[in-house]
Amino acid sequence: MWSVRRSVKESCEVAIVGSGFAGSLLARVLSVLGYDVVLLERDMHPRFAIGESSTPLANLSLERIGLRYGLKDCYDLATHGRWLAHFPELRRGLKRGFTYYRHHPDESLANRGLDSERLLVAASPHDSLSDNHWLRADVDHHFVREAIAAGVDYRDRAGLTRADFSSESVGLAGRRDGLEFELRAKFIIDASGPGGFLARQLSIPSGLDRTETRSAIVFSHFDGVRLMDDVVPGMPEGPYSDDWAAVHHLIDEGWMYSLRFDDGVTSAGFLLTPRGVASLGSKADADAASLWHALLRRYPTLHDAFAHATPLMPIAFRSQIQHRLTRAAGDRWAMMPHAFAFVDPLFSTGIAWSLRAIERLALAFEAAAHGNRVPRGEVLTRYNAALNAEADQIDLVVAGAYEAMAHFDLFAAHAMLYFAAVSFAEASQRIKPTDSVAWNGFLGIGDPALEPLPREALTRLRQITGSRGEIGSFDERRGFSEWLAKEIAPRNITGLADSDRRNLYPVDFDALVERHELLGMTRSELIKSLPALRGMTPRPTFFSAPAAVRTAIGLEG
Ligand SMILES: Cc1cc2nc3c(=O)[nH]c(=O)nc-3n(C[C@H](O)[C@H](O)[C@H](O)COP(=O)(O)OP(=O)(O)OC[C@H]3O[C@@H](n4cnc5c(N)ncnc54)[C@H](O)[C@@H]3O)c2cc1C
Repeated sequence: MWSVRRSVKESCEVAIVGSGFAGSLLARVLSVLGYDVVLLERDMHPRFAIGESSTPLANLSLERIGLRYGLKDCYDLATHGRWLAHFPELRRGLKRGFTYYRHHPDESLANRGLDSERLLVAASPHDSLSDNHWLRADVDHHFVREAIAAGVDYRDRAGLTRADFSSESVGLAGRRDGLEFELRAKFIIDASGPGGFLARQLSIPSGLDRTETRSAIVFSHFDGVRLMDDVVPGMPEGPYSDDWAAVHHLIDEGWMYSLRFDDGVTSAGFLLTPRGVASLGSKADADAASLWHALLRRYPTLHDAFAHATPLMPIAFRSQIQHRLTRAAGDRWAMMPHAFAFVDPLFSTGIAWSLRAIERLALAFEAAAHGNRVPRGEVLTRYNAALNAEADQIDLVVAGAYEAMAHFDLFAAHAMLYFAAVSFAEASQRIKPTDSVAWNGFLGIGDPALEPLPREALTRLRQITGSRGEIGSFDERRGFSEWLAKEIAPRNITGLADSDRRNLYPVDFDALVERHELLGMTRSELIKSLPALRGMTPRPTFFSAPAAVRTAIGLEG
């Protein structure tokens, strides 16, 4: 797109590098706030991007951004029903929850009724309020078009080569259409994802050595993947149909994700641990497609599901997907989360974390609109501290889950930690949707009951598995489950970690009402909040930035 060949202008207030949804949406919000924004992209839209499965916390952020800055499309893209009604042309997939199965080499997945190695956790009460998988080529393209419409000066095919910082501004240099350009900005935001533009320019040291998770990936998009309902028929009915979810297949070598879009395309990839890669021997050195097929051959049910699937683009392999820096913000610069750190797709944290960061930086620029028009130093310090702590926390939750994959009971128990943290955060945010919500810690950071748990869980799991994938004894596994259930109890508002549920968890408003005290409410207060908790607030009829924002940017007051 964007064949208009204008050169990049010479100065702006904010330069944003990278036009994934994070860069484009933040650029647009800053433009709404009256900032002069240039958005630079080295590629062109529409383009493939990975990272597709959204979550309730992501959608809450999207709704808040939509309501606060008058961006109706953000509000509409936050539920499956509104997306279909208003943007049917943007491809997406219905995501009702999180589905997990445990497969064993050379064995078909056994349908053992309620004793099957299967876990379903619903994230929404019904289809219309549910989350979506984002077909990123469409969604990112949409957000860049909307950024342009909001006044952002967008330049694609712009390869940046240099950033020079002074006390007053940042000088950027690069090439576009074979011509060199220079741009001076008061503030730069790195939204280049793993592109790592500012990391190189500022020589920011890697923080990878302080992280635990390591995984490789082999992935593509496919046509013709069979439904699990068809491959393993007759499983007991769950809270939603198994396939309309982020489907996770746990295997000895790691796990596979399978995300089905409404048009029948499936995004799928194997995440492989270093031990898993080593166990594949010479197969791991083969080309990506051979590796893919070798893995499918080991797991008959996955093989059946993909027997007639055709890749829609070449199957790709990356030997390590983690990256991590030691700083996320400083004088005149900030990074979006995906430029700062990435752990693993397990638990789909990326989109929600990125949207939360957009909210935080937007609030920082809002507060600066009447001042010197760059975020205050203390806000950037807070942002840096938040992203560092949150990246550590995501890493610990995911590393624990990889350890727990040794045995399905351990995995199902450990997953409750993630679900307790996010469901408590979701309910709290729905009940009190204040401005400061954006600064709430992600995955329990700042919460005395939740913050220490991932580290403690990882330590306990490693004692059981010996860090060698051992499954431990029955008593050890039961001991871990009981410990975790006790630890999450103060935040367990939805009846998680309940063996009577047989690993099938619906969205349970009755359990929520019973546990009203955990949310600091009386029973009748909680009952009054149920429409908000169900996400059934009346649809806003008028989208324009609310009074507080209009005052901050000088439109009122
Ligand atoms: C394998 C994998 C699976 C994932 N699955 C999920 C998931 O299921 N759910 C979830 O929530 N998250 C997931 N994520 C995370 C998700 O991908 C990220 O959170 C998300 O892509 C962040 O978006 P972004 O706009 O910050 O960056 P990106 O989408 O990475 O976009 C960066 C943009 O910057 C451009 N760029 C790069 N370098 C430069 C440069 N020097 N100059 C100009 N432009 C540049 C790129 O071309 C690109 O357009 C996954 C990530 C991976 C790696």
